[in-house]
Amino acid sequence: MTASRVLVLNSGSSSVKYQLLDMADASRLAVGLVERIGEETSRLVHETPGGGGGRERLGPIADHEAALKAVAAELAADGLGLDSPELAAVGHRVVHGGTRFTRPTVVTDEVLAEIRNLIPLAPLHNPANVTGIEVARTLRADLPQVAVFDTAFHSTMPEHVARYAIDAATAREYAIRRYGFHGTSHAYVSRATAALLGRPEAEVNVIVLHLGNGASASAVRGGVCVETSMGLTPLEGLVMGTRSGDLDPAVVFHLARVGGLSVDEIDSLLNKKSGLLGMCGDNDMREVLRRAGEGDEAATVAFEAYVHRLKKYIGAYTAVLGRVDAVVFTAGVGENAHQVRAAAVAGLGGLGLELDAEANGVRSPRPRLISPPDARVAVAVVPTDEELEIATQAYALVTQ
Ligand code: ADP
Repeated sequence: MTASRVLVLNSGSSSVKYQLLDMADASRLAVGLVERIGEETSRLVHETPGGGGGRERLGPIADHEAALKAVAAELAADGLGLDSPELAAVGHRVVHGGTRFTRPTVVTDEVLAEIRNLIPLAPLHNPANVTGIEVARTLRADLPQVAVFDTAFHSTMPEHVARYAIDAATAREYAIRRYGFHGTSHAYVSRATAALLGRPEAEVNVIVLHLGNGASASAVRGGVCVETSMGLTPLEGLVMGTRSGDLDPAVVFHLARVGGLSVDEIDSLLNKKSGLLGMCGDNDMREVLRRAGEGDEAATVAFEAYVHRLKKYIGAYTAVLGRVDAVVFTAGVGENAHQVRAAAVAGLGGLGLELDAEANGVRSPRPRLISPPDARVAVAVVPTDEELEIATQAYALVTQ
């Protein structure tokens, strides 16, 4: 029997999301989530999409080790335990790969130590990713653990794109450069867009707009990422749910000098209390749209700022690519908010962008075109699937 299953783990600071996929047909055997790890009110939700119904477990789960053990127990209860010979690998989402990891990598002690060394670049994410890997290794030692990095897809950005225009020695000493994030999603969606257009990936230039709670844009030339909007950290670029995206770095000095804020306070302000939330008090685009629809001024300005930033990036990446075949929307906002798509493309006829209003209004979980058939640049909605992409990359690595 060939082992064709991959368990995908996405370990966050207080949550673990998991999916068990069968790569023979890309089907989901189990999908679940443990949240509020370390609190009294932890919750595990486990579903088997193929049938059998879902289960929910409430009650304290102390740490990531307990969480992963609980996940393993749920899987075992469905006959899908980690001891199954059909399991080929565990694929771990790892947020920051620095310049060291540019492709999926089988975890060894040395690799784990390197991921740990990158913690200063991703203090909120890499520690939980490391813990997830460590615990998974103890649950079944002989199983390949594959780290799939959020930064990897962007490692092909040319040096002059990845560099900030700061003192070169300082940049080198502190590893300051633009790494980019959401790479797994940008890789999956740009490839799926080529398939939607029915053209080889190598011939297609795509602008991907990943608009979730975090949001980023990328310019992908022939399947190769040449530019992305996030930088050293996920703070740069688009207006997001709670992050400011681009701003004059002097805002930071001003807040410190004039406002007396500490570095940690400014970090929290810009990462957690800015973006849509900071501008209008809501970070969920559904609420922003509802309030703007009722004439609420703060929500209207927040929406307009969000869309304005998107337009600037579409324009910039059109210039970077020279020729654009498709602009594609993905993730929670991109897949669901037709108002955001319509507003982002409005007035960009000069760049060849037009919408078919009726197609844009259709709700569907499938990849689809929302531009008229004769448009110079295709506009598309392509649902992202980061778990499938992680599983695909991990499986390809262990079966090559
Ligand atoms: P992440 O993975 O970054 O947490 P998602 O890609 O799941 O985020 O996107 C979550 C966001 O998608 C929500 O905060 C919400 O703003 C937005 N969203 C989800 N559904 C809709 C909808 N129907 N209309 C508008 N926005 C939506």
